Amino acid sequence: MVASNGKDGPVTTSSRSHLQIEAWGITDVGMKRRHNEDVFLVDPDAGLFLVADGMGGHAAGEVASQLAADGIHKALVEKEFEPGETWPEHWDPQLTALGNLLNDAVLRAHQEVTVAVEENPTLKGMGTTVVAAIRQEDKDRLVIGHVGDSRAYRLRDGQLTLLTNDHSWVHEQVSAGLLTEEAARSHPLKNVVTQALGGSAEPQADVFETSMREGDLYLLCSDGLNTMITDGEIEEIVSQGGSLKTIGQRLVIAANERGGNDNVTVLLIRVLVTHPSGN
Ligand code: CA
Repeated sequence: MVASNGKDGPVTTSSRSHLQIEAWGITDVGMKRRHNEDVFLVDPDAGLFLVADGMGGHAAGEVASQLAADGIHKALVEKEFEPGETWPEHWDPQLTALGNLLNDAVLRAHQEVTVAVEENPTLKGMGTTVVAAIRQEDKDRLVIGHVGDSRAYRLRDGQLTLLTNDHSWVHEQVSAGLLTEEAARSHPLKNVVTQALGGSAEPQADVFETSMREGDLYLLCSDGLNTMITDGEIEEIVSQGGSLKTIGQRLVIAANERGGNDNVTVLLIRVLVTHPSGN
């Protein structure tokens, strides 16, 4: 089952190995924008979860983010594409096969966005970020990849950790020590991403793999969340616990109460139960 770009999504469970996970997503237009260019996708059967944040005028951003979500789903789950042809080109020996597949899926989705622009010039300038998490079958591992400034966080043992590094101009300034996190959040160029699907250059996804533990809570979000509230505030809200729906709604409300300048999307993945491995 896939929930994509709905007002919110169902709580879903997926039990494929020793761990059980549940996921829930919500996307909200925010307080200032007329269109919601964010989408999220939850496919518990495939263990695929993603958030994409589109950009571009005249609703083209919505087209880009949906194309990216569908393209990645197609490449990873429906296996509509034959990956063998391009694997050697992009193969990263540091990653598992699934990590390479995710990388490949992102590149294929980028090509789909690019082709759509070529076929319809009114879509020119559209692009999208993406952050995706896919569960490695029969293993307690999660493969996470991103392009742009959509983020993945993990709450573990009460502590929130940012797992991704934004591909954005302000992040580069923060990394270089030229801007504080606080100043970055309100900087006029805070929306400038240095990589996107659909951009003129082929994006280079950052892909990594992590071991899931019982009790972990993973958060995928668009920048409409973390530019409105601080990481400390996000930590405070997710640490309060409750159902994923409750946590997700609290995050969206907090972003909107702070101004809701942008679309806000939150996708939560919780690792529930460890079963004896049996082998
Ligand atoms: Ca955004």
